[in-house]
Formats: sequence, structure tokens, C-alpha cells
Amino acid sequence: STIAKPHAPEPRSYCLDGREVDLLHYIYGRPDIKELRNNPQKVLAAIDEYHTNHNMLMNIGGVKGAYITGLISEHKPSTMVELGGYIGYSAILFGDAIRANGGKKFLSLEKNPEMAAVSSQLIDLAGLRDVVRVLVGSSDKLLVELVRERKEIDQIEMLFLDHWQELYLPDLWLLEDMGVLAQDKSLLVADNVIMPGAPRYLEWVKATPAQKRAIVKKLNVHPLKPNPNLVYDTHVPQFQTDWGKDGLAITKIVGEEVV
Ligand code: SAM
Repeated sequence: STIAKPHAPEPRSYCLDGREVDLLHYIYGRPDIKELRNNPQKVLAAIDEYHTNHNMLMNIGGVKGAYITGLISEHKPSTMVELGGYIGYSAILFGDAIRANGGKKFLSLEKNPEMAAVSSQLIDLAGLRDVVRVLVGSSDKLLVELVRERKEIDQIEMLFLDHWQELYLPDLWLLEDMGVLAQDKSLLVADNVIMPGAPRYLEWVKATPAQKRAIVKKLNVHPLKPNPNLVYDTHVPQFQTDWGKDGLAITKIVGEEVV
């Protein structure tokens, strides 16, 4: 089967239906709007209130979010990249944590320009304009631009995969091909690996190099060039979220086999 070029997914019915712009009206219409300025935690609390009382939003949310901010305090990346920014919840939460831990940059890659416009407003409101940058475009094209063309990234320190699950594996293969995943340095965090699930990504990050070489032989991966020789160590902590049971795949690069 072919995996390298997944079809563009249909818009999800539970989002992208106008509620994200409605969120902006809700936030800016709040009587306490002045208290939200330059206060990331209050902006996040206001988004949570909208999610609970008005329309559900596909944000990382508090439970998984707190686990990932714990990883940020442990790893202290100078730069963190996310694939899929939506309305900016994770960008505000993680951008604030990056800044608190001495980091410099959080790059939020978002394909939908309307979502990028909403998140940019909220990031600005939270006072994180100097830390968080929203880049509009599809993750694969933007990653190539950041690594190969602008040479802004030479190594991934911490990556948050949270766009559509069928894109996790092709984007990981792209990063493997560009040689930006480094042993004992890069940390990959993938959301929603239980619900809705990312079986092909999970299979890859849990496989041994020998198993991955077999997968590459079996699949048509063209035009991507995965590196099956990287040795990954993955664990999947599970959480109860507003949407049900879910997990994060946390992957470290622990070596590279020479074949
Ligand atoms: N990370 C966000 C948070 O926790 O607040 C939630 C992200 S939401 C689950 C997924 C987002 O990925 C959507 O806004 C969608 O437009 C975006 N997306 C889908 N395909 C993409 C692609 N190829 N490149 C970048 N973003 C993409």
C-alpha cells in the first residue's frame, strides 16, 4: 500500500465550523479582557471556559498539556516545533513553559490560515509574541523550508505532532531523511495516538530497526526516504480527557544501527 501521499483529510465535523472565530468574539467580548492581556494562564482558562460552556475545541487540554509542560521543564528545549496549531492553545501553554525554562522559540505550523489568524490574535493577547511564531502552510513544506532552505533548524530538540494522524508518519520520515533527529537530543511527542489513533506511526516508533527495514521493503514509501536504522525508545502514557481515553507517544532517539 502507499503511505507517502495520504489523501487530504475531510474537515472534521466537530471543528472548523465557525466556532473558532466565535471563540475570538467570546474572548474579546469578556468584561475581564484587560486582565487577560499578557497573562497566558488566564487566556488558557478563558479558552477552557469556552470549550466547556459553548463549543468543544480540539485543544490539547489541561491533562495532557500538564504532562507535556513537565517534559518541557525536564528537557528545556531552546526551540520547540509543533505540527498543527489550531487556535493556539498548545502554542500558548508550551510557549509560556519554554519561556519559563529559559528557551527562546516555539514554532507553530498551521495549514489553515483562518486558524493561524485566530491563534496569532490569542498568542498576542497572551503576551507571547516574542516567543511563539505561527507559520502558515502545510507541515511538510514548512519543515523543508525551515531545515533546507532557511537553515533555521539543524536539529529537532522537541517536536509536538498534533495535526492529522495520517500525516504523523510521512512527516517523521521527512525529518529522518533530512537528518535532523539526533541521539539523546530529539524528543518527539505525538498526540491522539489512542483516540482517534495513529497505528502506522505507533508501529514505526515502537519497531526495531530490523522491523522497520521490513516495513520499508513492504510499503511504497516513495518519494520519502525513511531512516529505519534509527533506534527509538517509545512509551505511551494514557490519560482520561474530555473526549475519552487517549495517549501520547513519547519517543527518544537512543542510537543508530550501522548496516
Ligand atoms: N495543537 C493544537 C492544540 O492542542 O491546541 C491542536 C491542533 S488540531 C488537533 C489540528 C490542526 O492541524 C488543525 O488546526 C489543522 O488545520 C492542522 N493541520 C492539518 N493538517 C496540517 C498540515 N499538513 N500542516 C499543518 N497543520 C495542519
